[in-house]
Amino acid sequence: MKTTEKKPWTEARIRAFITSVLRAGSRRWPPKYETLNQAKTEKKTNPKTGRIAQHFRCEMCQEEFTQKDMEVDHITPVVDPIKGFESWDKFIDRLFCEANNLQAICKSCHKEKTKQEKAIRNGNRPKN
Ligand SMILES: [Zn+2]
Repeated sequence: MKTTEKKPWTEARIRAFITSVLRAGSRRWPPKYETLNQAKTEKKTNPKTGRIAQHFRCEMCQEEFTQKDMEVDHITPVVDPIKGFESWDKFIDRLFCEANNLQAICKSCHKEKTKQEKAIRNGNRPKN
């Protein structure tokens, strides 16, 4: 198998690459910190480590977690699950949105929400 051969990237691969770069940059988007800060509950002992840690409340399951188990989610998904990718303008506008479209949720709730969005997306994919 030739691994050195350079093939031009497909449009989908380029899009996936740019998407991941933008998503990584959005972690430093100030409304994200704001959203996480608002979810702060109290500093208390983390049962997993025995250390005092700041806790946050998940807006979906209402349980408390430490920061490493929290994620900031876009209430309205960045990519509409039905329409799919529309344009970079729309993608960027939605990714870098105001705090009112963001919610702090735990990793497992986020995973579940993403799974549901993916199911909607797959259900709408044209069949070949
Ligand atoms: Zn949760």
